[in-house]
Amino acid sequence: MGVALTEKSRLEHLRKGTPSIATICSHSSLQIFHGGRSEGFNTIGVAQGTPPRFYQAFPLARPNEFLTVDRWENIGGLVDKLNERRAVIIPTGSFVEYVGPERFNALPVPVFGNRRVMEWESDREKERVWLEKAGVPMPRKYREPAEVDGPVIVKYYGAKGGKGFILAKDREDLLSSPIRQPHVIQEYIIGTRYYLHFFYSPLSKEGYRVADGTLELLGIDRRDEANIDELYKLGSQEGLNRSGIQPTFVVTGNVPVVIRESLLQQIFDIAGNIVETSIELFGGMVGPFCVEGIMTEELKFKVFEISTRIVAGTNLFINGSPYSDMVAPSLSTGRRIALELKRAAAEDRLEEVLS
Ligand code: ATP
Repeated sequence: MGVALTEKSRLEHLRKGTPSIATICSHSSLQIFHGGRSEGFNTIGVAQGTPPRFYQAFPLARPNEFLTVDRWENIGGLVDKLNERRAVIIPTGSFVEYVGPERFNALPVPVFGNRRVMEWESDREKERVWLEKAGVPMPRKYREPAEVDGPVIVKYYGAKGGKGFILAKDREDLLSSPIRQPHVIQEYIIGTRYYLHFFYSPLSKEGYRVADGTLELLGIDRRDEANIDELYKLGSQEGLNRSGIQPTFVVTGNVPVVIRESLLQQIFDIAGNIVETSIELFGGMVGPFCVEGIMTEELKFKVFEISTRIVAGTNLFINGSPYSDMVAPSLSTGRRIALELKRAAAEDRLEEVLS
């Protein structure tokens, strides 16, 4: 059966049976499959070439079925198979990384969440407009080196995992650094990093109310970043530069953290404003998102980035986190997504959580 579906008929088609959950075999896929399976969904792993063997080691998180492509750019060839199985794609960072935002956005298969969020999140300028409109405290942005009056971080557009970012402790240091284009010069915030895992449900009315839905905090992590996290042991920046060692922020893992309880309201206010502004700007975010920032010693949280989908730091909490355990037992973000999809299907409100 070939299923060539228009945007409207895709939802109608989904309504005729139980949806499946599909995602790329990478990033947070174990958690997504585990969460989907525990809520009774059929799960589909999409892989390039032979699926990784490690799934055999995790019987409760192995997808029920693999679909494979020879190269990611040919993912369009799976559309019929995905639609036959009433698949809903759960977006992760791997779709942007491997499939690319344009190809992913054009895939005629239902996606969990609002696809329009990608254009606002993947462009640093647009993201800043969104966060500023939401009144979110952010690191200062300098238009040119002459304005710099403290430590800065220079970020390149499209840099993967913060590779090649430059840290400068003052203007002089910055002027002597070899900076490429295009870039953004940002105030370097000194404090403690927190990556806050939120979930916005447009369906739920019970809990912490934001707009027409509710906001949940499901966990917090901190990323282990190579090589910056260990560089301090080698001494000052100038010395490192002389030795040809440049700082990088390539994420290699994650550690669980909790934040001081008295800071919770501050971070809920920030996340709530981000959700409300997303509704005004582009019809709203749905489901998981991560607010990434630094808590200063004055206890002010400054946001440097937002990820508008499940982040890999949630993999710490397959069996729940110190926060999600107070929402529901054993609630991972993967399972929370499955629950939202299940509820939307049962209440015939799929169009509110899919795009
Ligand atoms: P990714 O896509 O992996 O999230 P990215 O290229 O979007 O990375 P950022 O997330 O903006 O880059 O930054 C990467 C890392 O740099 C952060 O995890 C954090 O450690 C550090 N960082 C970013 N902005 C600041 C800042 N203003 N002050 C201090 N550290 C920062």
